[in-house]
Amino acid sequence: MSVCIKDLIQNMNLVIGCPIGCSYCYARNNVRRFHMIDDFEKPEFFPNKLRLMDNQRPHNFLLTGMSDFAFWEPEWRDEVFDKMAQNPQHQYIFLTKRPETISFSTSLDNAWFGVTVTSRKEKGRIQAMKEHIHGGHYQVSFEPMFDEIGEVDFSGIEWIVIGTETGRRKGKSVSKPEWVWNLTDQAHALGIPVFMKEDLLPIMGEAQMVQELPLAFRRVLEEQATWQK
Ligand code: SF4
Repeated sequence: MSVCIKDLIQNMNLVIGCPIGCSYCYARNNVRRFHMIDDFEKPEFFPNKLRLMDNQRPHNFLLTGMSDFAFWEPEWRDEVFDKMAQNPQHQYIFLTKRPETISFSTSLDNAWFGVTVTSRKEKGRIQAMKEHIHGGHYQVSFEPMFDEIGEVDFSGIEWIVIGTETGRRKGKSVSKPEWVWNLTDQAHALGIPVFMKEDLLPIMGEAQMVQELPLAFRRVLEEQATWQK
């Protein structure tokens, strides 16, 4: 049975806010609705949340659920990566849509960097990520999708996530099964795990859902389970 990605990867919103302005941004709506910060276009850092990393029970954490890594101030990154180094029991994921503006490197093996690619014309972000972010692991998120992405250079990529637009936005884009299969087949040909997000269930059907995780994430979940016993 397919699972919800939030049961496998938890959000830790250390930074809230993003100036990119995607029309489909759910984070902006939530931040405004709950008045989390004054201006979503001006990211703010919440270092008091770093203490969540001290939890010895391992977690897979997404650190950019309400921000884009490209707009994290260098001193925020330093503080977060120092804390990550003290807490190697977790895996940490950072996503961006502006990899070409980043200059970053890390020696931490539990850091995962991903770009979001929503259309064929954005594929260049994958190469830009590899050129501008060094160290850790690379992933690609295809969510939402506005067209058939076509052939992708997945060299060096260790995980792909595929989804569709959620919510009730007028003109909302719905991923097509053939777009999803195109990416899945290319990744599988290279042995790269693929995760179809739960929102694809009505589009793909339960029997067609592929929900694979990198080994490092699976190990975290296995260890989590032993803590619950
Ligand atoms: S990049 Fe992400 S956080 Fe920023 S506006 Fe787009 S969807 Fe929202």
